Amino acid sequence: MENETQFSNFDFFDIFTSVLKHDTDKINLLNDVLTTLKEVLDRNNVQERSLEWDEIGAKLINGKVILPDTFENVLRELVVDNQLALLFLPEDMGGYGFTNLFAGPIIDLISQYDFSLRIASMSGIGISNLLLKYYKEPFDNALQGFADGSRIGYVAFTEPQAGSNLKNIKSTSELDGDEYILNGTKIYISNGGYGNTGLFLCNNLVNGKVEGTNVFLVEGNENITTLRLEKKSGIRVNPTAQLLFDNVRVPKENLIGEIGQGYNKVLERLQGMRIAVAFQSSGATKRVYQLAKNYAETREQFGKTIGSFNDVSRKLDSIKSQISRLEYYAYLSAYALDISNYNLPTDNLNLSKVPVNLTNIVNQSVPAGIDHNLTPYFVSNAKLYCSETCNSLMYDACQIFGGLGFISETEVNKIARDSRVLSIYDGTSEIHHWIINRSQKIIESIDKFVNPYNFIPNQTVYDKMLELKFPGIFNKI
Ligand SMILES: Cc1cc2nc3c(=O)[nH]c(=O)nc-3n(C[C@H](O)[C@H](O)[C@H](O)COP(=O)(O)OP(=O)(O)OC[C@H]3O[C@@H](n4cnc5c(N)ncnc54)[C@H](O)[C@@H]3O)c2cc1C
Repeated sequence: MENETQFSNFDFFDIFTSVLKHDTDKINLLNDVLTTLKEVLDRNNVQERSLEWDEIGAKLINGKVILPDTFENVLRELVVDNQLALLFLPEDMGGYGFTNLFAGPIIDLISQYDFSLRIASMSGIGISNLLLKYYKEPFDNALQGFADGSRIGYVAFTEPQAGSNLKNIKSTSELDGDEYILNGTKIYISNGGYGNTGLFLCNNLVNGKVEGTNVFLVEGNENITTLRLEKKSGIRVNPTAQLLFDNVRVPKENLIGEIGQGYNKVLERLQGMRIAVAFQSSGATKRVYQLAKNYAETREQFGKTIGSFNDVSRKLDSIKSQISRLEYYAYLSAYALDISNYNLPTDNLNLSKVPVNLTNIVNQSVPAGIDHNLTPYFVSNAKLYCSETCNSLMYDACQIFGGLGFISETEVNKIARDSRVLSIYDGTSEIHHWIINRSQKIIESIDKFVNPYNFIPNQTVYDKMLELKFPGIFNKI
């Protein structure tokens, strides 16, 4: 029971102060950033406007992607005026060195306002991290462009026949002098046709034969045609495009990582984007809790507010109690990824009295024949648990609104529709379940493995549903 009490008091600043106690300047800066962002989002009435944006959606007119003016104005204020992406560049490149842990509260906050805005405003951060990992000078323009807000990013991996199984792509790259020529059709590309700087995954063609896969940085839109925008049930103001890459020429220096290693090595480096989905889930859940609570306190039936009925208050309590658990999963994974990327201090994680030295776990030497450490285990747990739980809670939140919960012009309905994508993009839940199970061999090799998820108090009905659907994630070890 003690864990339960501690857990419900969980606050993300616990993590910052315990893990990053030597870095109080950065924590203060994060506080200032959150205050500024909130002011921008409130001043522009984003929560109300997001319904208007949802109604208008993204449009493809004469081959050009058009977004509502008011959406673009807020986006500009976030990425150009406030240089959101600059925060994440390392200090020696003029940035502030924000890591995944710092990204968490920012993503969570913007997701409480509008998912499409969160996707567009932070589109360059994951790509910048990848470029920094495989840094070379020709990447400077793209990094600078993301930092000053002049670039919007996109990631072009999925193809009609290659969704979960990206090994099945047909796109190609072929060297021609000092350039690569890229060809292929990509589908479901977020910010597609709107973003001007992207990643392109393709087969590495050498003398007509496939020799591994490559990932390229693609700048500009020459020879890239937006064939269509998908009509979606959610995140409607974020363009989801089908893109044709027709003999797109890029300098050979735009190859990211080693030749032929795109799928095997480079893609593994995009874990931060998955953690972002976990934080989107916690942000969305917070907002619907607020909406449902306000509604339950004001809507009357049978001469009473509906919140006074047990069935309604139980639903509200259940949403509330899940919020800190979503944060737990999300921050734990952000911390694990930061340990893996930045060698954080080796303190015990002083969170909810969980006696886990995550640093030791993440840095554990990996048994022979296994080509990954435990970071994906934490990241996939967060992506899977947060996105699935958020979706279950959306059902309850809409139910509290009765008929209104089914009306697409209400904010709760819009957030529920937006949230549906969380368990699909950046790897479906089923794929993350597979990744979690893949880590089992490493876990078995660790002497006295202390599983941080065992410290989560009593299972709720949602965990039980998850357990039935994905029995692996609650395996007691
Ligand atoms: C709104 C939106 C935005 C997106 N943005 C991007 C983007 O920016 N860039 C990009 O490259 N892609 C993007 N995607 C694509 C997304 O990543 C894919 O839709 C996703 O990976 C699933 O691929 P699929 O749709 O082809 O489904 P499939 O892979 O065909 O899967 C269908 C079903 O089978 C299950 N399944 C597949 N394989 C297995 C397995 N081995 N075990 C168990 N179950 C399995 C899946 O989990 C799913 O339930 C986006 C998609 C959407 C809807």
